[in-house]
Amino acid sequence: MSRVYNFSAGPSCLFEPVLQKAANQMLEYEDAKMSVMEMSHRSKAYEAIINDCEARLRRLMNIPNNYKVLFLQGGASLQFTMIPLNLMKNKKADFINTGQWTKKAISEFKKLGEANVIASSEEATFSYIPEINEDMINDDSDYLYICENNTIYGTRYTKLPCTKGKTLVADLSSCILSEPCDVSKYGLIFAGAQKNMGPAGLTVVIIREDLIEERKDLPSMLSYKIMADNGSMYNTPPTYSIYICGLVLEYLEETIGGLENMKKINEEKAEILYNFLDNSKMFSNPVKKEDRSIMNVTFVTGNDDLDKKFVNEATKQGLVNLKGHRSVGGMRASIYNGMSVEGVKALVNFMKEFEENNNVQN
Ligand SMILES: *Cc1c(COP(=O)(O)O)cnc(C)c1O
Repeated sequence: MSRVYNFSAGPSCLFEPVLQKAANQMLEYEDAKMSVMEMSHRSKAYEAIINDCEARLRRLMNIPNNYKVLFLQGGASLQFTMIPLNLMKNKKADFINTGQWTKKAISEFKKLGEANVIASSEEATFSYIPEINEDMINDDSDYLYICENNTIYGTRYTKLPCTKGKTLVADLSSCILSEPCDVSKYGLIFAGAQKNMGPAGLTVVIIREDLIEERKDLPSMLSYKIMADNGSMYNTPPTYSIYICGLVLEYLEETIGGLENMKKINEEKAEILYNFLDNSKMFSNPVKKEDRSIMNVTFVTGNDDLDKKFVNEATKQGLVNLKGHRSVGGMRASIYNGMSVEGVKALVNFMKEFEENNNVQN
């Protein structure tokens, strides 16, 4: 095997046994004797695949019965529009601005209503999660919107904000399935699948049933009600992405043994990397310690040329996609569920070596 360690922020690495199983089933899926890609989404065989995928997600995340699971398309970004279209009543919502992805959600919301940014960490390059209190929440807002893990800046909520009884809407694209989650605390959770669930093309929405309302004015494809009433099969769903997501969930359930175990592994990986960063003379992590993400770890040397050299040499060692997001520079290692402990150790070993070989005198 000559596979690299892929630290991409998304689409990102998947569990290797999942890829292997998909490869084994590529030409003939069980009794269907055809590829999943070739199946009618209305066939018995495919019905079993999508039902199994939903059942596994419900078990893993302990999703209460009064929540619907929707398998949609359009990426997480379409949800920036679909959420207000379906949930808005007063055409006002409160936002906590923690980076690019909340900024985009805010700017899409502004096309439809009044977005109140009640807190922001933009003045500090989004290096922390702002605290809020109940006084900051607007009484006439339809919901409170957050991004739980900030993929680009490497921050995350370690506890949910107060909501003053408002519906909490959360973007979990880069942290879903990384640890247990109390779904009952949210009105709506959404995630693009390509970080922790499977391939691109699938977006998962978990929504409390009372928030699903008939909206006759909405285009059918943008209506949660129509998608829910049709079991995500109003039109052809992203069949192959759902199948791979099902394999990822099967692996999480049957090999990892659930999200508590996944959390332990993720914390172990993050600790190895942050421990090294905190003791390094060359590398540092710019995020407030309490708000550090365990999925996306950002770091810098403080010297742009050295950053570039690091990324180039790491790539030659099979440690790829370590360049930080174009808006922040530096480096970022995305260590999603699919990244092994060995991969993180290999990265840290390389960082040690790089630090020794590029010893800055101080
Ligand atoms: C990647 C990402 C998105 C955008 O996802 P798309 O599926 O490309 O639209 C949104 N939010 C977060 C937190 C992300 O990490």
